[in-house]
Formats: sequence, C-alpha cells, structure tokens
Amino acid sequence: MAQPPIPFNHSAVVGAEYDYIREAMSSGQIAGDRTFSRKCQAMLEEVLGVRRTLVTTSCTHALEMAALLLDIQPGDEVIVPSFTFVSTANAFALRGARLVFGDVRADTLNLDESKLPALITPRTRAIVPVHYAGVGCEMDAISALAGRHSLAVVEDNAHGLFGKYRGRWLGTFGSFATQSFHETKNITCGEGGALLVNDPRYVERAEIIREKGTNRTRFFRGEVDKYSWVDLGSSYVMSDVLAAFLFGQLEKWREVQAKRRTLWDRYEAALAAWAAKLGARPPIVPAHCEQAYHMYYLLLPNLAMRTALIAHLKSRGVMAVFHYQPLHLSEFARRWGGRPGDCPVTESASDRLLRLPLFFSMTEDQQKHVIESVTTFRS
Ligand SMILES: *Cc1c(COP(=O)(O)O)cnc(C)c1O
Repeated sequence: MAQPPIPFNHSAVVGAEYDYIREAMSSGQIAGDRTFSRKCQAMLEEVLGVRRTLVTTSCTHALEMAALLLDIQPGDEVIVPSFTFVSTANAFALRGARLVFGDVRADTLNLDESKLPALITPRTRAIVPVHYAGVGCEMDAISALAGRHSLAVVEDNAHGLFGKYRGRWLGTFGSFATQSFHETKNITCGEGGALLVNDPRYVERAEIIREKGTNRTRFFRGEVDKYSWVDLGSSYVMSDVLAAFLFGQLEKWREVQAKRRTLWDRYEAALAAWAAKLGARPPIVPAHCEQAYHMYYLLLPNLAMRTALIAHLKSRGVMAVFHYQPLHLSEFARRWGGRPGDCPVTESASDRLLRLPLFFSMTEDQQKHVIESVTTFRS
C-alpha cells in the first residue's frame, strides 16, 4: 500500500506545550508579558547572552520594530538581500525607505559582502543580513563595513536561532536581531517572533514601541505610577497562551536541534554523490559556521530539471518545495528600478533551488522514502 504523503513541514508537540497552555489558561492571565512570555525571554537572554529579548506577534513585526527604532525616514536607503522573504524588505518600506537589493554569495546564498560597498550611498542607514538556511553570513566583513559607514545592522535570524558564526551565536551581531516562531521554523508557536536587542541604548524604546507607544512595561515593573503615550508604537505583544506553547518548545531546543541535525546529516550522506552525478549541489556550510539545521536543499542544474523533480516527488507522495522569488524583480519592488541581471546569483538560485521535507517528527522510514524517491529520479 502506498504510504500517506510526506508533507514538506509538520509542526509537532515536543515537550510540555499542552501542560503549559493549561497552566496559562487556568492562571486567568493570558495577555502579554505574563509568566510564560517572561520565561521565554529570560531563557533566550540567558542562552544567547543578549541584552534584552522581547517576544512579539511575528518576525515581521519584530522587523517593523527595528525600522521604528532606527527612525527610518522616507528616502533613507536600506540594503537587504534580494533572496529573502518579503518581510525583510517590507518592514522598512512601511517607513518609506528605498530598498536596495544586494545579491547573494554562490556558496551559502547569504548576502554577498563583497558586493556591499558598491551599494552604499550617503543615504544608506542599515544593512539587513539574513542567515539563509541557518548558516551565518560573513558577519566579520559586514560588521566592519557597517562600522566604517556608521550603518546599523539588523540580523533577520528567522532561520538561524541557535546557529553560530565563528563560535558566536547568530542574533548577537547586529544592534537588533529578529526571530520567527512561525509554524515553518525550527522552534514554533504557530505565529510568533522575537526582537533581540543587543545595543542597550535601544532597550527602553523597544519596550515602548511594542506596547502601543506607551511606557506600560515600566508601569508593570513599578518604575512609574501610571502609564501614558510617549512615542510611536503598535501592538506587537505575544499572548501568553502562545508564549506557553513556545516555552514548551524552547525548553527542548537541544533535542529539536539534534533531531534536525540527524535528518540533515542523513540527507547529506545519502544524496551528495547522487547530486554530484546530476550536476546538482547540496548546501555548502563553511567550516567556521555552526548551522541551525533549518533546511536541506538541492540546487538543480536548471529550472526544467527542478520542475521535473518536483513532479516526480509529488507522484511518489513527497512534497518538496522551491523558495524565494527575487525581490528586486517583484511587482512591488519595480518602483526602485530593479532589472533582470542585477542579482544574477539570486535569479539563478531562485529557479533551481528545491527544499526537501525536514521536520522534527519525521520518521526514518519517511526519510528513506524521500531519499529513495530523489535518487530514482532520472532527468
Ligand atoms: C519566516 C521568515 C520571516 C517572517 O516571519 P514571520 O514570523 O512569519 O513574520 C522573515 N524573514 C525570514 C528570512 C523568514 O524566513
């Protein structure tokens, strides 16, 4: 009998999520900044050593907070990779920024630091590196360049939680980093995120922006006797019901990481030789990067072969999916004058990349079926 389809992603209960949600519900306090939000934040601050962590409604919203914190104004320029999720750019476009799209490196598909100097103008305010697939960007070069030009660095670390670059946690390099706990990410609560604040000058204002522009966080700590409207802001606070789920996952981060590593390594061992024969290539992880095991992908030789492989896998009940379309060529970004050929590596990778199923509850049998399905593909 054919086995049931193997999804690309499936979120699983990995620890005490149900117990913690019940605990939050029965406490009668399920708005934000209650017990479980604080536990999540304290845990991330302790493990990563960041100055302040604020859990948010999403990574998109954490990026919007970063744009507000940097006072991005109409006409300011912000450099983002073209090969990323739309939120990386949209959060800054909302403040009126002009988005400048950088190409990515051919090996890691991370922002190509060697191409950044040519993109910097007197209006540039920030660089937003994305640690694609949980493999660190070249943060030494990016930080040095940003320092020379007085630019802020905001790490979009949606893929990279608990990954490292030269022994240092991803998310600890920029003034800010943003995390996603969306269903598709390593650690999840369905929809959610976090803003990591590394620069202490921004801590108080980050709390205010997240609380609708009020100093309610200080009021809760007993530092002021009433709270009022003091700045711009919005509603970026995560409900404690979701934080309860999230804490159940965060407590088990080592197990989650270890399981994903086992799956990733098994793909690598089984597919590297096959890929070489077909002219495809597996992910490249530089020796100085400890990856977060977010994704296993194959770069096929061309679009036709990727389309054929997707169809072949689908016929065998395996859901493999492509990834980002180049942002500089998107309908919305055309206003900034992007043209085909501006980001050749992005444009090529976007047509050729295929992501294989990889999720915590994936069984060895399921993975064997995926591997067998891939290796029986003949172009
Ligand atoms: C998932 C993702 C986001 C958005 O995360 P949400 O929590 O869904 O808002 C942003 N950037 C990258 C690189 C992502 O992968």
